[in-house]
Amino acid sequence: MIYDYFECQKIFDSFNNTKIIEHNPLGYTSLEHLPIRYFTYGNGNNNIVVIGSQHSSEIISTTFVINLIHYLLNNNIEFNDITIHFIPILNPEGYLINTMAIRSKLSKYSSSQDIREYCYQFYKNYRYDIYHNDDIKLHQVMFEDIDSRIIPENYPILKDSVSDILSNHPKGSIIDWASNGKGIDLNSNSINKIVNSNETNKSNAYNNIRLDIPSPIGYPGENTNINFKQENEIEALNSLLSNLSNIKSIFNYHSTGGIIYQRPENNDLYHLTYNYLLSKFYQELTIKNDSNYNIIVEKANKITSVNDVIRINYLGDLLIELSPMMGNPIGMFGDNTNIEKTINSNIQSFIYTINNIDKIINVTNHISSLITLDDNLYCCIDSLYKKIRKK
Ligand SMILES: [Zn+2]
Repeated sequence: MIYDYFECQKIFDSFNNTKIIEHNPLGYTSLEHLPIRYFTYGNGNNNIVVIGSQHSSEIISTTFVINLIHYLLNNNIEFNDITIHFIPILNPEGYLINTMAIRSKLSKYSSSQDIREYCYQFYKNYRYDIYHNDDIKLHQVMFEDIDSRIIPENYPILKDSVSDILSNHPKGSIIDWASNGKGIDLNSNSINKIVNSNETNKSNAYNNIRLDIPSPIGYPGENTNINFKQENEIEALNSLLSNLSNIKSIFNYHSTGGIIYQRPENNDLYHLTYNYLLSKFYQELTIKNDSNYNIIVEKANKITSVNDVIRINYLGDLLIELSPMMGNPIGMFGDNTNIEKTINSNIQSFIYTINNIDKIINVTNHISSLITLDDNLYCCIDSLYKKIRKK
């Protein structure tokens, strides 16, 4: 289930001539001109967008999108008046860097049991790092002998870039690579993300990695400069979104927490109610311990990330953190039950949500005519939702 960059390309090729249609790439990365591959399923008037690996260290999001596509194909799932737009890897250069680093370690093991044990050890070390504030990060130590040499020779520009960037960061931090090939984090790549000089990532697992220079994770790019230009990958995504009418949902899949982010919200009552109901439908079939994924809401708080901007501008944007088990990129693969539950329940959640889009629209119309934008908004929607679900 851990697919490296090249394995993913073969899987994408295999979609050809099925009900998944490949279109021209949405764009190309700036260093090696890797394509941002793009597929559609169905041809209805309502559009659903599915994004994987905006953060390349969150490889489970691409595993999920691939499994979702296979499930739709194998079970011949039909939706009513829907087109689904898939971007399985929004960040191809980052995905290549991260999965080559993983491959360099996992290729030593031949059995899936050994691979799982290595991933579980990574999970335990990562977990230790999150809950302690040590200078040495145990999960990075597992990759301290890995550097830009793992990038294939036919990607010389990327190889040099990774080498330059890593020279400013701790050994082994290549395994934390969430950014693109230029060391720019594609969710932070927004003028709204303010970083101070010498500031580091907030998480204990990454607080030895600076945010103010190109880095494996967190650097927003030259966004204080008047000439700020969004990265190619985000421009590619924005060009797709701005060309689609009737967007009913944007599922931006990330990796860890078992969380549905629905904040910051648009202040429009219809928009906010629709998004919250969409979250609630998605939540129903998710599994986190004995419960469901949490929905994070907070009316009109600060906009900082690229995804925040998308949520404010388009209806139905949910950022979903898939795995209840932590440890990007491989920790969550250390437990088969976690992986299977995460993938399967999210496939069911996705299908269930899409099948209920008409209902969500109707209920939104009904509820938003009964309530006003005040602090008890979510309680009102919750109780009305319960009543309507019972009918
Ligand atoms: Zn992420």
